[in-house]
Amino acid sequence: MIFFAHIGPSAWLARRLGSWLAPETVFDLKALTAVSLCAILPDIVDKPFFYLGLYPAHTGRLWGHTLLFSLAWCLACRFRLKALWPWALATPGHLILDGMWDRPHTLAWPVLGNYFDEPPMYFPSHKDYWVWLYHNDPLVLAGLVLGDLTGLVLFAAAAWPLAAPALGRWLPAAARGRPRTSPPR
Ligand SMILES: [Zn+2]
Repeated sequence: MIFFAHIGPSAWLARRLGSWLAPETVFDLKALTAVSLCAILPDIVDKPFFYLGLYPAHTGRLWGHTLLFSLAWCLACRFRLKALWPWALATPGHLILDGMWDRPHTLAWPVLGNYFDEPPMYFPSHKDYWVWLYHNDPLVLAGLVLGDLTGLVLFAAAAWPLAAPALGRWLPAAARGRPRTSPPR
């Protein structure tokens, strides 16, 4: 899954379910930012290890993609970083959207062994992966693109009610131009 495929469904669900999960919460711009960051937190944690070659494995799914990390993060937010609750639930949601049940050793780390599952084929970059998909598995490529577009629509649906009032204030003022300081003669 790629960027909007993660933050779109998370933001949309947070808008729908946030106040039900924690009645005192308000879905405002801070909440949208928090849930978006929590939705991609496993990638923020793991991808630098992969792209900078800091860990000897051909995968960008490491500690951040484990159930243990999600559990610890959710507990920390529930009891310490309370401003991030319930938005932290987007972090285990990332594991579902990544289909992490395909990588049981990573998901259950370190219960099944102290190593992380690697995909059957190695691609040095996303671009190489997409070029390979284009030539070999266009249906999967279409699914990825469709997933990201759907995520973009869901993100817009969650963010629009926050942006609309600000735009409503700004647009008429912009249409009027600069306010006059003295009446016309
Ligand atoms: Zn991921």
